[in-house]
Amino acid sequence: MECIFCKIIKGEIPCQKVYEDSAFIAFLDIAPINHGHILVLPKKHFINFFETPENVLADLIKISKKIAKAMCETLNTDSFNLGVNTNKTAGQLVPHLHFHLIPRFSGDGLKHWSRKEYKKGEIEEYGERIMREIENV
Ligand code: 5GP
Ligand code: ZN
Repeated sequence: MECIFCKIIKGEIPCQKVYEDSAFIAFLDIAPINHGHILVLPKKHFINFFETPENVLADLIKISKKIAKAMCETLNTDSFNLGVNTNKTAGQLVPHLHFHLIPRFSGDGLKHWSRKEYKKGEIEEYGERIMREIENV
């Protein structure tokens, strides 16, 4: 499967690259949430978080930490959000696993997600159902 990020990796579409090694690449998001917003991804095409092997995710998180540190130092902030949109309903547009590193600045105008409430007994029910399911995964 070929996607837009595979084309960027192959050099068929240009990008503003900030990091590359034999297995990973990082470049600036073309439509940044804040300036300096970086996408970090494996060169191999995995369609989403679930489909990506754990050893690849482990290396990706190590590289992302290093890049996030450099991003924050460069942009003179200590704050950023790490995001992984997984599948359409969560807003994943490009079907090639990528981490978003979004630098944050005080007064940048971005709002955190709105919150919901649990009715009585619901938090226990959700927690117990998910805990049971983890044993089956
Ligand atoms: P997703 O919604 O899949 O988590 O995020 C995809 C991201 O890729 C979006 O933030 C979008 O702005 C970025 N993007 C899409 N096409 C391109 C492109 O051609 N070049 C770059 N640098 N970023 C892109
Ligand atoms: Zn791809």
